[in-house]
Amino acid sequence: MAGDAFDALFEAVRVSPDNVPLRRHLADSLLAANRAGEAEHEYRAALKLAPDDDGCAVGLADAFFRQGRHQEGLAVLESRPPAAASPEARLLAARLHLATGAVADARACYLEAVAASPTLADADLADRLGMRAGAAVAGGPTLERDPDLDLDDDLDIDLAVDIELVRSDVTFADVGGMEAVKDEVRIKILDPVQRPELFSAFGKKAGGGILMYGPPGCGKTHLAKATAGELGGPFIAVGLHEILDMWIGQSERKLHDVFERARRNAPSVLFFDEVDALGASRADMHASGGRHLINQFLSELDGVEGDNESVLVLAATNAPWYVDSAFRRPGRFDQILFVPPPDQAARAAILRILCTGKPVEAVDYDHLAARTDGFSGADLEAVVDRAIEAKLRATMRSGGGVSPLTAKDLAAAARSVTPSTREWFATARNWATHANAGGTYDDVLAWLERRH
Ligand code: ADP
Repeated sequence: MAGDAFDALFEAVRVSPDNVPLRRHLADSLLAANRAGEAEHEYRAALKLAPDDDGCAVGLADAFFRQGRHQEGLAVLESRPPAAASPEARLLAARLHLATGAVADARACYLEAVAASPTLADADLADRLGMRAGAAVAGGPTLERDPDLDLDDDLDIDLAVDIELVRSDVTFADVGGMEAVKDEVRIKILDPVQRPELFSAFGKKAGGGILMYGPPGCGKTHLAKATAGELGGPFIAVGLHEILDMWIGQSERKLHDVFERARRNAPSVLFFDEVDALGASRADMHASGGRHLINQFLSELDGVEGDNESVLVLAATNAPWYVDSAFRRPGRFDQILFVPPPDQAARAAILRILCTGKPVEAVDYDHLAARTDGFSGADLEAVVDRAIEAKLRATMRSGGGVSPLTAKDLAAAARSVTPSTREWFATARNWATHANAGGTYDDVLAWLERRH
């Protein structure tokens, strides 16, 4: 539709704002012209006037889909009575499910759509769903699972959406401080993989589980990546909130798939961020039947589901108080390590690492470290970033050449960054003081004490 035709339509809607078919026509036209944001606005306005208009609801869901807002799109479709769902709505639901990684649901919706309206068959979508259009038979085309696809291919289709298996080029040399965690990682996986005969003589296997907790931005994820780099094995990172959101209804299988991937590619590092999402005490876990997922996780960790030899499971949380206590049993996350904010020496090391390879004048990192108490590694990264940005801005303004970063630049940037770890300690102090069963948070208390 040409621009002036749109102008005329907008004008018509302005004159008759309550005309639902007119608004719907404008919205459909906008959507067809890929102006999804504006289409969303018009569909919403039409639905306010006519909440039961299914066509507008599907349009709104489509507008969300085109803006990458898949959950919102699904929510719109799921809020309508299923009997009212048109074949087009089912097809859209299939695309939305696929985009969120729920492949089984996507397949079901696609089958329903094509069964009701064979002309909707879409070879490309069918391929992406691991289904191929079969020969046409009386009553319309049938769809079959591709016999060449075994379970593993199925798994790859599902996982390709959200779980990546990556090689890490970060090593321990890139991690400042964190000596206690590095030591634990060495003894659990790096040394046994290097000297299997020595470890097996003592009946020790490579692998196991370490749970790291502490304030955000202090290197838990960074260290997990570095572990994979040291190991030369793949790094598989899983955000648990993501699993819970995206994999509703099939989380257990997905979790199993993730572990299987790590086992097949051992020696490997399987990293679970936000492991507190699995806390049994969380209300949403009860609501979503999360107990099953916790049990699945435990039996994967215990090696009931497969041999975890040479798989190191690292987990991280900023909220250890929500982590299910069953995770603490021996053989699971038997090492639970507090990752404090970097001390002065570690801050100096981190600053040095962050400035490596950049034009920097001789800087007294120890001096700067002394002035950044309470800063996390991520805060220090922000300091260096800001100093660089300020330098670039000044250089662009003066039109001069590259001048190196100075201690003064870094100190000025440090003054502009607020250390982020204090808030965490305020919460942690409460838990450590009032809920320290079994001395779980003794390390936190000791750390707090040392600072006063
Ligand atoms: P966490 O997982 O504890 O929330 P991250 O590992 O994601 O924190 O840290 C955020 C960023 O801060 C990292 O990408 C890294 O650049 C930097 N950083 C944090 N801690 C360290 C450290 N000990 N050594 C080097 N860089 C660090």
